[in-house]
Amino acid sequence: MVNVDAVTRREGQGPTPPSSPLSSSSSSSRSILPPITTLFVWDFDWTIVNCNSDEYVPSHFLGDAETESRLRDMIIARGHERWHECVSDLVNDCVAEFGLTLYDVLDAASSMPYLTDVRGAIEDVGRDITCGQAIISDGNDSFIGAFLTKNGMDAYFTHGVMTNMGRWDDNDQYVDEKVDEAVIGGGGGDAGDNTRVTSGKGKHVFRVVHQSSIYGGHTSAHCPPNLCKSQVLLDILDRTTETTNTTTKTTTSTRKGRPRVVYVGDGSNDACPALHVLNERDVLLARDGRRICNPNSMMGVQLDEEDDSALTGDEFGILPTIERRKKKEGARHPRCRVQTWNSGRQLRSLVRDILNEASS
Ligand SMILES: [Mg+2]
Ligand SMILES: [Zn+2]
Repeated sequence: MVNVDAVTRREGQGPTPPSSPLSSSSSSSRSILPPITTLFVWDFDWTIVNCNSDEYVPSHFLGDAETESRLRDMIIARGHERWHECVSDLVNDCVAEFGLTLYDVLDAASSMPYLTDVRGAIEDVGRDITCGQAIISDGNDSFIGAFLTKNGMDAYFTHGVMTNMGRWDDNDQYVDEKVDEAVIGGGGGDAGDNTRVTSGKGKHVFRVVHQSSIYGGHTSAHCPPNLCKSQVLLDILDRTTETTNTTTKTTTSTRKGRPRVVYVGDGSNDACPALHVLNERDVLLARDGRRICNPNSMMGVQLDEEDDSALTGDEFGILPTIERRKKKEGARHPRCRVQTWNSGRQLRSLVRDILNEASS
C-alpha cells in the first residue's frame, strides 16, 4: 500500500494526507476514549459537508451528469449493496482517464462545500471541555481525512472518525499482490474488502474496505453491509466513561455510566442509532427539509441559502425513514428528544442551547 506520509509532495499541491486519529477506525478500535459528560456524534455527508463525498469527488473530474450516469449503470448492474465498489471503480476510472495521482483526488475531496455555521457549531462544542466529538460515516477515511485536514478540523474529533477505510495502492505493487494471491489460491479477498480494479492504468489504485469488517460484519437488517451506525456508536460508548462529578464541601463523587449523546445526522442510515441506541437523556438533531441543488458545483465554505425556495434538491431521509419504519414495522418512536434543522444557523443555535442547558 502507498505510504502517503512517506511520499514527498510539492508545496501547495493539495492537502496533507490524513494521519492519526483518522486511521483509528482500523488500528485502535478497542482503545479507551477520554471520559466526558456529553458525546456529540456527527454524520459526515450532508451534515458536516453539504454534499455527498462519494459523488462529489468523481463529479469534480467527470461532471455531475457523467458521474450520475456511470454510477447509475454500475449500481443497476451490481446492486446497491456494492456502492463502495462502484465508487472505487469510478474514482479509478478518473485516475486513469485524467492521469491523476492520489493527491489530485485528495485535493478534490478537501474542497468539499460546508456550511460556515456547521463548522461554527463544531468549534462551539470543541471549546467545552466536558464534551467529546466523533464522526460516524458511511463515506471513507481517505476523503473525510483530506477534508478535515485541509480545513483544520481533525483535532475536534476527540472520540474518533469511524468510517470505511479508503486504501491507496501503488498500481504495480497492487497487481503483483493480486497475482501472488491467485497463484497461492487465496484470491478473492475477505468479506470486507470489496475491491475491483477495472481501470488498472493509473499510478495509484483506490479501494474501500468496509468499516464493519473490523467487527466481523454486523447483523442489522436495516443497514447496508459496509456499516451499521448503531454498532459503531455502541462501541464508542462502550469505550467512553461518563464524568459527572458532584462535589460537596467534604466529598467528590463520580457517577460512571455512558455519556449523554447528541446525534447530528440527515440520512436514512442515521435512523438506526436514533431508534436503537439513543435514550431519554439523548438528543437527535435531524436534518429536515430539502437539499440544495447542484451541491457538486460548490466548493469550500458556504453561507446558508438566504432563500428557502432555492432548496429544490431531494428530501433528507432520516425523518421519513423513521416514520416509514414506525408504520411498516411498528418500530418505536425514538425515545430521545428530536429537534430539526436545515440551515447551519438553525443547527448552531440548537447546539448552543444544548451546551448552555448542560452547563446550567
Ligand atoms: Mg449523511
Ligand atoms: Zn444498523
